[in-house]
Amino acid sequence: MTRKILLIEDNEQNRYLVTFLLNNRGHEVVEAPDGPTGIELAMKRAFDLILLDIQLPGMDGNAVAATLRGNPATAKIPIVAVTSFAMKGDREKALSSGCNGYIEKPIDSETFASEIEQYFGNLREEES
Ligand code: MN
Repeated sequence: MTRKILLIEDNEQNRYLVTFLLNNRGHEVVEAPDGPTGIELAMKRAFDLILLDIQLPGMDGNAVAATLRGNPATAKIPIVAVTSFAMKGDREKALSSGCNGYIEKPIDSETFASEIEQYFGNLREEES
């Protein structure tokens, strides 16, 4: 089933790779290069999932997740954090900011799409 995914990621190469991998599975991807742009898009359109880079210039991913969780329009959309931080505590920080899951870079092209698909509909199905 085709899903609509919002990708908030500042690195152009990462955006290209993630979009390529998810398009290959038939999913639609809308890209945002920074947090404020991503939040604006998330308020305007209905997304099935948000992929969120934690390391963003300006507003970081944890702040973006907290903002999305605090708004009724986006509070229930699954958010998966994607980060190159390998430091202890980052996972907990992302989860406590409201992310539902956490994937570490570098992205494994073989398994990435399947990992993401596990998070589809976890929250939104409850509404239907
Ligand atoms: Mn980044």
